Amino acid sequence: MTKLSKDFEAGEFTCGCGCQKDKVSPVLIDKLQQLRDIIDKPIIITSGYRCLAYNEHIGGAVNSPHLTGEGADLQVKGTTPITLAIIADRIDHIRLGINPSHLHIDVRPPNPSKYWIFKNGKYIYSGKEKNLSKFLKKNLVTLTSTWGKSEAVYP
Ligand SMILES: [Zn+2]
Ligand SMILES: [Zn+2]
Repeated sequence: MTKLSKDFEAGEFTCGCGCQKDKVSPVLIDKLQQLRDIIDKPIIITSGYRCLAYNEHIGGAVNSPHLTGEGADLQVKGTTPITLAIIADRIDHIRLGINPSHLHIDVRPPNPSKYWIFKNGKYIYSGKEKNLSKFLKKNLVTLTSTWGKSEAVYP
């Protein structure tokens, strides 16, 4: 296994289709390691790199950061995606997509949205709002929200 940082290995980012391909931006790894150090708990990568065919198969966005190794979806046991997002927001130059089942992090510039949430079957984007708590409050998402627990999404 190729080690990418203190706590991450290349194999964790391999495409989910079985094609064995992996690609991860060193910038993304740096941000994920920062998050790992802050929370001090293992981070489970649920989707890292995606080849074109796999991204299409699961209905990912056409220009998804997963295609270029600039994005990853993750979970931390015992921590909700909302809580994770609030913690990750301390890290500079990342975008955060809050999904019922996972947190999406990528290192693309916000154009314009830095945050988004998947709620009631659709994406809500932060647009010009650069404050995460204000964005969540405006969309009635709280730390104890139980929205969309069964919704599966793959941005
Ligand atoms: Zn693949
Ligand atoms: Zn994602």
